[in-house]
Amino acid sequence: MTTALRAKPVPTPLFKRRVDRWATKIGVQPKRVYVQAMRNKWASCSTAGRVYFSADLLSEPASFQDRVIAHELLHLLIPNHGALFKSFMNAYLPQGRAQRRDLACSRPGK
Ligand SMILES: [Zn+2]
Repeated sequence: MTTALRAKPVPTPLFKRRVDRWATKIGVQPKRVYVQAMRNKWASCSTAGRVYFSADLLSEPASFQDRVIAHELLHLLIPNHGALFKSFMNAYLPQGRAQRRDLACSRPGK
């Protein structure tokens, strides 16, 4: 089984609660949050306020989930990856890794 080294996936409702917490923190209100199979991305969002997360994300470490969630929810405020976006990411995720690479919108290695 290739998933042996991965963490056990968190249940979708728990993940969505995590998204809710981040939405409150950032001050956005996504219209709807979807968790679904996605091929090339960890997450994406629509201009109408719908946010989509890859079901694969449920098996990733919590700190990575946080980054992807914060990243995608921030897009509801800022649609690009410009300087303002980066400064917001650094404010919410002060580990200094936020600017390293955009992991949320383009999935690495695939
Ligand atoms: Zn992005």
